[in-house]
Amino acid sequence: MHIENDLNLKRQADKLGVSIWRTPSFLFIIIGIVNAVAMAVTYYISKQYDRPEFLVVAESVVVACIFSIGKYIIGQFEEIDALSKMKTEFVSVASHQLRTPLSAIRWETELMLSKLDRGLNKKQRKSISTINLLATRMTRLVNDLLDVTRIDQGRLILKKEKVDIARIVTEISGEFLPLIKEKKMKVIFQSVRKCKTDRCKPFGVLSDQEKLKLVVENLFSNAIKYTGAYGLIEIDLSKKRGFVVFSIRDNGVGIPKEQQVQVFSKFFRSDNIVKYQTEGTGLGLYIAKNIIEQSGGRMWFHSREHTGSIFSFSLPAA
Ligand code: ADP
Repeated sequence: MHIENDLNLKRQADKLGVSIWRTPSFLFIIIGIVNAVAMAVTYYISKQYDRPEFLVVAESVVVACIFSIGKYIIGQFEEIDALSKMKTEFVSVASHQLRTPLSAIRWETELMLSKLDRGLNKKQRKSISTINLLATRMTRLVNDLLDVTRIDQGRLILKKEKVDIARIVTEISGEFLPLIKEKKMKVIFQSVRKCKTDRCKPFGVLSDQEKLKLVVENLFSNAIKYTGAYGLIEIDLSKKRGFVVFSIRDNGVGIPKEQQVQVFSKFFRSDNIVKYQTEGTGLGLYIAKNIIEQSGGRMWFHSREHTGSIFSFSLPAA
């Protein structure tokens, strides 16, 4: 499968936005051919002429050729790298610029809904609520894009603080309660007791609290989004060899086997969920995995189409 992908020069060229003869695989094929020809020519010369000068000249020509092609290949890589850095920089700047007007739209619409509530008729209230909802969604996308550019540029800074995952799970499940009720779903907390008091069993980890919330929120929201009404979600927390392991299982649509290798890639959305028209960007799991790995943990999953999925991560226990 990998070899097939590597040899699909057209797809590689489209993906990198360069012409076919500038793709890394094409350049590697060329250097392979040059090497083979060079060896054959050297062998032929050494057979034909027994004077060492001929061999030295032939070898020098071959070395000069390989050096020039190598230099060209490195140049192409540098160009592709510079292009990709420019794109990342553009996304970063555009996202930063979009944040301020979006915040203003959200604040203004929230203010209108709360202060002018009595003066608004039903239609006006509905329109303002829609604007507010769309601005909130857009803010989420912009924040995701900013996180992705930070990850790609190696600028994602994470705090190392003691965080209780059990508390985060309880908080997030509270946020999703209206949605869970609406879809008449059942959520089982295997070993997470409701943390209404400070006496609940803690599962302390070393991580960045805000970013960890984002991870749990993403996995929870996916489990709800990709599971039908009356579905079942099970959440479990355990301690294993110095790590706290979190898992969330659902009996939803699952991920097609052939697409599972792409799950943690940027912008991936599986074919089977497109028909459900669920909202999403395909950035959540990419960001989540990077946050977990940068915090010293691991993230993995098992899924079967039409049966369900289980997403898990581990983090060093505090
Ligand atoms: P988004 O949900 O915004 O599309 P994610 O990065 O969170 O992006 O997820 C990427 C894709 O992985 C989803 O679009 C979906 O196809 C698949 N996926 C993630 N979680 C689940 C799940 N619990 N059940 C089925 N498919 C899932």
